[in-house]
Amino acid sequence: MFSGGFRGFPGGFPFGGMGEEESSNSQAEVDNKTLYELLGVAPQSTTDDVKKAFRKKAIKEHPDKGGDPEKFKKLTEAYEILSNPEKKDLYDRFGMEGVKNGGGGGDMGDIFSHFFGGGGGRREQGPKKMKAKMREQQVTLEEVFEGKMIHLTHKRKRVCDGCEGKGGANAKTCTTCKGRGMVQKLQMIGPGMYSQSTGPCNDCGGDGTIFPEKDRCKKCKGNKVIDQEKVIEIPLERGVPDEHDYQFYGESDEVPGVMAGDLYIRIKIKKHDVYERKGADLFMNKKITLVEALTGTQFTLKFLDGTNLHISTKPGEIISPAQVKTVKKKGMPCYKDAMSEGDLHIKFEIEFPLPGQIKSDQIEQLKKVLPGPKQQAKLEAKKTLFLEDYDETHVNSNPEGGKKDEEDDDDERGHGGQRVQCAQQ
Ligand SMILES: [Zn+2]
Ligand SMILES: [Zn+2]
Repeated sequence: MFSGGFRGFPGGFPFGGMGEEESSNSQAEVDNKTLYELLGVAPQSTTDDVKKAFRKKAIKEHPDKGGDPEKFKKLTEAYEILSNPEKKDLYDRFGMEGVKNGGGGGDMGDIFSHFFGGGGGRREQGPKKMKAKMREQQVTLEEVFEGKMIHLTHKRKRVCDGCEGKGGANAKTCTTCKGRGMVQKLQMIGPGMYSQSTGPCNDCGGDGTIFPEKDRCKKCKGNKVIDQEKVIEIPLERGVPDEHDYQFYGESDEVPGVMAGDLYIRIKIKKHDVYERKGADLFMNKKITLVEALTGTQFTLKFLDGTNLHISTKPGEIISPAQVKTVKKKGMPCYKDAMSEGDLHIKFEIEFPLPGQIKSDQIEQLKKVLPGPKQQAKLEAKKTLFLEDYDETHVNSNPEGGKKDEEDDDDERGHGGQRVQCAQQ
């Protein structure tokens, strides 16, 4: 239907099941007369007029009484729209497209752009369904490995049951929206770009009336909605990817006459001290000493399921610096296929002895044991150049190949001539 951060609103805009057969009704001229003609009422008719007209027609056209089912369906649709002041208002201004899409006008793309700021998937408050809300839920890698049911207390707004969302008695017409319940809203969709949309009036909550203070509902203080806490159950699946969204249909806020919005819970996996997850595989770094690298290493790992893994090199195996070894089937469970799992990859860092730690007699021993230097023809050289420490700040990166500007003569002394220096004047 549309793309964006929120994937798929099942049920979509809340007009499923109504008037869908008429989706071809997208002519440039807005048709806001057909429904009135169908019921035989004038556009100025009250809700009561519409009800009476429908009852009369329905008795005559009912399929049980031999009426045409298609025609009866259209009548019912017309009644559903015209008997609802908000839908009637949308129909009067935008025709069927407006009703189906909750406001705006023109083609579908235009209507959607009224509700989604710049294509980011954020849904502006439409007159028919509250915008979705997003919450984040932090979980550990262990929890994702095992899977679990997370219970989250979620606060949301619900229509007040003390006044059934009326807010009070002795309603007065709201001056902000002049009783229409709807106001035109300008929304910035980009730098200097505005989109006009229709939404419920904030002052009266969308029903066009407000209450004198003494007549306000005590429970909601005239707000028509109350805060309600609900425990949401998030079925955290084994191996679920980071940033996965769980959708809870209708679990966000609600106001009178507007469907409750959806709640999205985004899973955020906390950084783990040992393991880094990439897809179904796990990665980790392991420091071993040079003697372990040469003679073999064994160590114990606390795994994500709480068990201990005993890891060992094979007999005679030698680990090279930065070498990566793999433990098969000790990764994460595959998402949606928890019977399969990824691998664990261990990158080895080798701690070499410090300068001076190996005594000269030990060096002689090592020379006997370890393979010697590769045979190299001895070429004549004037002198020996000793290796110095590498200093990144002294790399000559002048793209012209010339001398680096910030280098001064002081820097060039005492480096034993090991650096690539350009001719100096
Ligand atoms: Zn109330
Ligand atoms: Zn108002």
